[in-house]
Amino acid sequence: MTSEPLAPHPGTAAATQRHEVLILGAGMSGLCMAIQLKKAGRHDFVILEQSTGLGGTWWDNRYPGAHVDVPAPLYCFSFEPNPRWQRRFAAAPEIQAYMAHCADKYGITKHIRFGTRISDAVFDEAAGRWQVRSAAGEHFDARFFVCSTGPLSQARWPDIPGLESFAGQRLHSARWDPRAALQGRRVGVIGTGSTAAQLVPEVAKAAAKLVVFQRTANWVLPRMDRPYNALDRALARSALYSRAVRGFWYRVLEWGRRGFDEGSFARRHMTAAAHRHLRRQVADRALRDKLVPPYPFGCKRLIYSNDYLSTLAQPHVELVTGTISHVTPGGIVTADGREQALDALVCATGFDTTHLMSSLLVQGRGGRRLAEAWADGPEAYRGVTVAGFPNLFLMLGPNTGTGHTSTLLYIEPQVQFALDAMQRVREAGEAARFEVKAEVFRAHNEVLQARLEGSVWSHCRSWYRTDGGKIVALWPGFTDEYVRGLRRPAWDEYRVG
Ligand code: NAP
Repeated sequence: MTSEPLAPHPGTAAATQRHEVLILGAGMSGLCMAIQLKKAGRHDFVILEQSTGLGGTWWDNRYPGAHVDVPAPLYCFSFEPNPRWQRRFAAAPEIQAYMAHCADKYGITKHIRFGTRISDAVFDEAAGRWQVRSAAGEHFDARFFVCSTGPLSQARWPDIPGLESFAGQRLHSARWDPRAALQGRRVGVIGTGSTAAQLVPEVAKAAAKLVVFQRTANWVLPRMDRPYNALDRALARSALYSRAVRGFWYRVLEWGRRGFDEGSFARRHMTAAAHRHLRRQVADRALRDKLVPPYPFGCKRLIYSNDYLSTLAQPHVELVTGTISHVTPGGIVTADGREQALDALVCATGFDTTHLMSSLLVQGRGGRRLAEAWADGPEAYRGVTVAGFPNLFLMLGPNTGTGHTSTLLYIEPQVQFALDAMQRVREAGEAARFEVKAEVFRAHNEVLQARLEGSVWSHCRSWYRTDGGKIVALWPGFTDEYVRGLRRPAWDEYRVG
């Protein structure tokens, strides 16, 4: 695929908003980047956010029941522990409150431009700066471009004939309408991933009838949740205690990473726990049979829930496993010709993770576009830099996802690496640029793909992989290995100047 390169499009000097750093996205990673810039005494940055509020994925995914699926002590920044968590597995509003607290405390809010969607970003080679345009035609000019849109920002609607014709209320979990009226309605939910497992129990409480359309059953483990009481919160105010709790969960989840390794004790233990959980939650043998995954444990993202499976066994809930044929104005028809009449349809069908950042045009050196560089699936060096795209830093970029622990553990070293790199550029002069060497980039991705080939994640369809089968979302190793690679970079792998 080739396309005419766009010329950099500097606006008139008066209309151009010039900053040292332009951050795209006000989610966890954008927020972390902004805080660390502030802490380093760098105040010349702007965050552009297309939504009207802070939170990124936590702003978008406000469906009933949304909560984090790792223990909350690991779902906060290491430099900002949160002694206010109400439960071990915090609900979405608590996480949003935590993010608002961080934004206020570090003076970030005034740097955010909400409701601003970027249309294109072009690297101006002569100036060594990024020229960025918003959909509304505003023009920004920045030395560094930080893309912190994350892998789970582009909602994916299912490709089902007739979907548009549905006459009732149609919702996507990642674009939830808080006014959705599901009380006493006949509701259909398409999808049975982590999101569906969280919203199905809540929707079942409101709906008169709930039909869950399952294409593939998933592995479900118990969620070791509990409310935090006043004593927990008092203890959490001690830095020593909160570090110890964080350290404890870090190690527990890293142990869980072994569950992805063929033949490991952890794998046998976790698989047995999932089978036990299913037996305890679902008494009906026929229903249970439909809920046994047809793929190896851990191939898709594991689900942690204490009420999803038991909800499916409720009398007003039906699990439909037949292929969906099409949607009609009144409901969903399966391949056996049966129509389920519905008043509302919830698509918990996930995200487009294989065409990262495809909603904007990003053009690097030599007029090369990111979409062209990523024609076979997104790639980066250690998830942060891309050869041919100088002064661009990705947060939670390709192959930095984890199936087992908190993404925040990956965000913090990415931010620190980017800050160190920016400092090197500043020291190298006005129009200097920072770019990973092409051969380093290529070799890294070859090794990465070789490690992922034949791994547990290669045995099923999931948001971790492209249609061609390439695993583009996941880091294959343990957290320590990833963090070490970024904390102690070999700077000769990059070109600066
Ligand atoms: P997902 O894991 O990609 O699940 C999408 C579901 O929709 C799957 O069950 C899929 O079936 C089904 N689906 C897609 N297209 C379909 C079609 N045309 N017909 C029928 N079914 C269709 O998406 P998700 O549940 O939103 O979760 C995505 C990720 O977000 C998670 O893995 C997790 O990392 C993250 N998440 C995190 C939290 C948290 O607490 N931090 C909460 C929710 C989600 P197939 O399996 O057959 O493809």
